[in-house]
Amino acid sequence: MMEGSVLMYQVATVALLALACSLASAYDPSPLQDFCVAIDKYDSADMNTFLLVFVNGKFCKDPKDVKAEDFFFSRLNVAADTSGRLGSNSTAVFVDQLPGHNTLGISLSRVDYAPYGVNPPHIHPRGIELLIVLEGTLLAGFVTSNQADGENRLFTKVLNAGDIIVFPIGLIHFQLNIGKSNAIALASFNSQNPGVITIANAVFGSEPPINPDVLTKAFQVDKNIIEYLQKQFGK
Ligand code: MN
Repeated sequence: MMEGSVLMYQVATVALLALACSLASAYDPSPLQDFCVAIDKYDSADMNTFLLVFVNGKFCKDPKDVKAEDFFFSRLNVAADTSGRLGSNSTAVFVDQLPGHNTLGISLSRVDYAPYGVNPPHIHPRGIELLIVLEGTLLAGFVTSNQADGENRLFTKVLNAGDIIVFPIGLIHFQLNIGKSNAIALASFNSQNPGVITIANAVFGSEPPINPDVLTKAFQVDKNIIEYLQKQFGK
């Protein structure tokens, strides 16, 4: 009985520690003040040599100088240009666009899709995404990480106006406009700066390019296919 309780206590402690560690490393840290409006430059006269220092987040504007505009972004009613090759485009409202997001662990973006436009497979390395469809019909999905049985499981759903899907942090996901009209979605994130890694661009369009032998072997295709893709996505 006694040994059992000790074991339970140890299991609970390990579980709590694991939870604390995951909370500490997986998401933006909690703020310790009301707000910390982001500024890119620390402009103190005696620190002129440190004008551009990157920290985990951004420097805070002096609270005395903070204005309502620092928490404000308008123009999200305006559709982004979807005439590019993908037929979709995002308007991010991350900390760089809305400095009041700094330290608050939240942000959003608007995604516009022309008919058959695609938001191609991508990852947000620092944020969970909650996508709500405002207009149109999207085929949305995400793929799990490598599972013990070697599978990468796909979850997909057709979404109409008012439907929501959640994309877990760090997983590859996408949307395709399968309707005949434009589509609009809003994506919210639990990070002020979730980041975006577009898979095709990162793999085939890196600068400098990844050695084609690496990709030929990795994708198990002819080398000229890799060279074609690198030409497509290269600068
Ligand atoms: Mn996304």
